[in-house]
Amino acid sequence: MKLTIVAGARPNFIKIAPVIQAVLNAQNNGRNITYRLVHTGQHYDKKMSDTFFEELNIPLPHINLGIGGGSQAEQTAGIMIEFEKELIKNPTDLVIVVGDVTSTMACSIVAKKLGTKVAHIEAGIRSWDITMPEEINRLVTDSITDYFFTTSTIANENLYNMGIPNEKVFFVGNVMIDTLLSNIKRFVKPNFFDKINLSNGKYIVLTLHRPANVDEIKKLERTINEITNNVENLPIIFPIHPRTAKIFSGINITSNNLHIVDPLGYLEFNYLVKNAKAVITDSGGITEETTVMGIPCLTLRDNTERPETCTIGTNELVGTDPDAIRPALGKLFSNEWKKGGIPELWDGKVSERIVNILMEIIK
Ligand code: UDP
Repeated sequence: MKLTIVAGARPNFIKIAPVIQAVLNAQNNGRNITYRLVHTGQHYDKKMSDTFFEELNIPLPHINLGIGGGSQAEQTAGIMIEFEKELIKNPTDLVIVVGDVTSTMACSIVAKKLGTKVAHIEAGIRSWDITMPEEINRLVTDSITDYFFTTSTIANENLYNMGIPNEKVFFVGNVMIDTLLSNIKRFVKPNFFDKINLSNGKYIVLTLHRPANVDEIKKLERTINEITNNVENLPIIFPIHPRTAKIFSGINITSNNLHIVDPLGYLEFNYLVKNAKAVITDSGGITEETTVMGIPCLTLRDNTERPETCTIGTNELVGTDPDAIRPALGKLFSNEWKKGGIPELWDGKVSERIVNILMEIIK
């Protein structure tokens, strides 16, 4: 069986790492399976791409389509044009796409139009917020996918409600947690940790990159000031996403406990998360990682496509109104944050399950 695996952006690299490892393990066990890794180039910055290949021992991509930057439409079109050439030159039995980025959607459309089957890892999750580009990517991808690998029973229900037959849906768990559990002993203390006197449980990690939080400069300024002024002066480590960095230099911060750093590698970032008092974020993947590590997570979004991180895990939706931040932090500092458990099948064996299923269904 020949697979083409697509990855384009930071969270994709974290999701494909264990899948490729499971393919290589199957090969070593004498199974007839090969893969070709296509990097679309959607994230091209070293800190958003190469670092993850190095740290997570992901074999280098067989090809990089070099489509970085541009608007949503330019990216989608650019990826489609180049991926079509790639797939015609290198036919495959199955295209595997992961997550919800532009590359996920663009490559699944191309594959289907060339008559190639598509498997979507992390299928079926929905924020029901169509203003998010990721939600459009999920809807389009899942409307043409052949095999749906899901992280939760809620995702299964969403697919069922779309009319997807049960035999196409495989509830396998969360590949992102495979990466977390297989690297947790390798986490690396960042250089600045001791330099700025951080100590375990006595700092906050912050990440923000969604348009609803970062595109309006005045709102971003209020959000940051609400956070920095209501954390009992604990240091806040803010690895800044390139999208946020573009707007950030114009804002006026009224306290001195915010430490802005470049995006961190996976091992350093998760070292910080594992030892933090709490994480404040608008990322999806990070809410899953904090759930598994049992770290309080305050999500600055009005909705989530990962409701199990709230119903089972340590995550709470604070919303995108900066006025909601102070009461949420009040709850954190009065030690009233919930404890949380780990969702079903987030057990580190997900990629192995996926490869075993593929060996059965693709003949
Ligand atoms: N991450 C990282 N370094 C950072 C910030 C995040 O390695 O400085 C990792 C994080 O552990 C998670 C992933 O990046 O695995 C989340 O990516 P992102 O927030 O960009 O995407 P989303 O999950 O929102 O789609």
